[in-house]
Amino acid sequence: MSRLVVVSNRVGPLKDTGRAGGLAVALVDALTQAGGIWFGWSGEISEEGTFGNVRRVGSRKVLLATLDMTQADYDAFYVGYANKTLWPVFHYRLDLAVFDRHAEEGYLRVNDRFAARLRSLLRSDDVIWAHDYHFLPFAASLRAMEVENPIGFFLHIPFPAPEVLAALPNAAQMVRRMLAYDVIGFQSRRDAANFRRFAVEEIGAREADNGDLLLGSRRTVVRAFPIGIDAEGFARQATTPDARRHTRRTEKLLAGRQQIIGVDRIDYSKGLPERFRAFGRLLEDYPENRGRISLMQVAPPSRAELDAYAEIRRELEALTGNINGRFADLDWTPIRYMTRSFTRRALAGLYRASRVALVTPLRDGMNLVAKEYVAAQRAEDPGVVVLSRFAGAAEEMSEALIVNPHSAEEVAANLQTALTMPLDERRDRWQALFDRICENDAASWAQAFLAALNNQGNGQEEKE
Ligand code: UDP
Repeated sequence: MSRLVVVSNRVGPLKDTGRAGGLAVALVDALTQAGGIWFGWSGEISEEGTFGNVRRVGSRKVLLATLDMTQADYDAFYVGYANKTLWPVFHYRLDLAVFDRHAEEGYLRVNDRFAARLRSLLRSDDVIWAHDYHFLPFAASLRAMEVENPIGFFLHIPFPAPEVLAALPNAAQMVRRMLAYDVIGFQSRRDAANFRRFAVEEIGAREADNGDLLLGSRRTVVRAFPIGIDAEGFARQATTPDARRHTRRTEKLLAGRQQIIGVDRIDYSKGLPERFRAFGRLLEDYPENRGRISLMQVAPPSRAELDAYAEIRRELEALTGNINGRFADLDWTPIRYMTRSFTRRALAGLYRASRVALVTPLRDGMNLVAKEYVAAQRAEDPGVVVLSRFAGAAEEMSEALIVNPHSAEEVAANLQTALTMPLDERRDRWQALFDRICENDAASWAQAFLAALNNQGNGQEEKE
């Protein structure tokens, strides 16, 4: 059996720490089954950078192999092109995107350097699976070094409409480089369709009947592989003593009132100001909720070194102050806003104590919080998900209440529907969602992708 080589910006952890995402767990499972290497950045900055030693840790079956970066690489590749250019463009925020030639060059350079260092670890029958927007041109770098192994790619964030992507300088070259992959997986059908349309319209690729793309002698499988969570594992987390403690503490504080929960890294893609305004609208348009319903927003800061992130944080503080100042009463605070993180186990407990999950990103690749909330509910008395149509999860979670996050009125009306929904309907909707989330879990996602990659790797060889 061939080894699996996973490539991603951050590597590990190998063990489920309660903080690690389902993704890490699914990848570790896949790596453990096949045996293999998880290759990426060490998280360290050093003078040697990618020219330094490969750090190696791990078990008999899975090796974590990582490289440092220089400060210049980190600034150009990670802070610069990945997070100031690709992240905003791919989340439809051209107004926040920075286009800097040096950052783009640094991004391509780091991809080449990582490829060169990985190459020396490779065996001829390894199967390579690269992840996310840090590694769009990684297969092209490897192919230029005559690596012939099957190489797949999964994009965890959205792929924008061609009209938006066209604003990225050298977008056509980037998409052409991406077609060096044998399989490209997206979170949703919409993302896959956007990619196909760009490739056909802007670089003259041909679309086969099954949606594959053909360019020159190469065929690339292009498909949606919506990512899942370890649903049964997460449901179990919700009943651990730690989770129960969080459920109890929250319920005690609520004293019979109901809670709406939001859990998001502070990021402009998450629609947090819009969400707070919609909650304010709920209290305004449906005054019976005053004194009865509160919003708990868990919002760990991320990428604080970027201006756009500091700005959104200030805006959220002002909005919380406004809404709380306006509506709060002696024994009731409308918004509980916490800029800290919780372990996933603790979150499971908080989800359980909440009647509604309010998941309203303006754009999101998938949104795992929506799925985790469903997995954590009590079957006999489950809560309701209010979900943005712009989250990848909306394609799979049609039993949620699907909303346009830009419309405060629409979100408020759906919150009201969720808060007053009869138990029978809550149960029916939840059961359908839970069954689907268990069926399309993290393990089946990894299996489906790797099956497509193994298949296509063979196909490409036969053709040549
Ligand atoms: N998360 C966490 N602690 C927190 C907040 C979030 O462990 O305090 C986890 C959450 O459980 C989920 C992930 O972070 O697994 C967020 O994934 P999602 O797809 O919702 O958003 P992303 O941050 O990847 O954009």
